[in-house]
Amino acid sequence: MAEVHCMRCGQTREEIEGTPYGGSIGKTLKEKICDVCWKEWYEQSIKIINEYRLSLRDQKGRDFLATQMKIFFKLEPGSEEEAVKLDDTPAPSDQSGA
Ligand SMILES: [Zn+2]
Repeated sequence: MAEVHCMRCGQTREEIEGTPYGGSIGKTLKEKICDVCWKEWYEQSIKIINEYRLSLRDQKGRDFLATQMKIFFKLEPGSEEEAVKLDDTPAPSDQSGA
């Protein structure tokens, strides 16, 4: 399998297996993103879909996810403010000193 110098993690790793995405974005991803980062995005995209209840049958949902993907891989510099904030960290517990 071919290796790519990944523009997200900065390491030279295996390229994404298969075709990650259609069109020119897919080509860019394949050339510039490694399989490890792609899998990270995959996990992240599931969280986004669940949290925002996106429907990928609907164009708006797909566009939203595509934008988030470009931000994730830094394909669109300057659009970070559009990035969703996922609440990954569990809320601090009030029950201290149990
Ligand atoms: Zn990477």
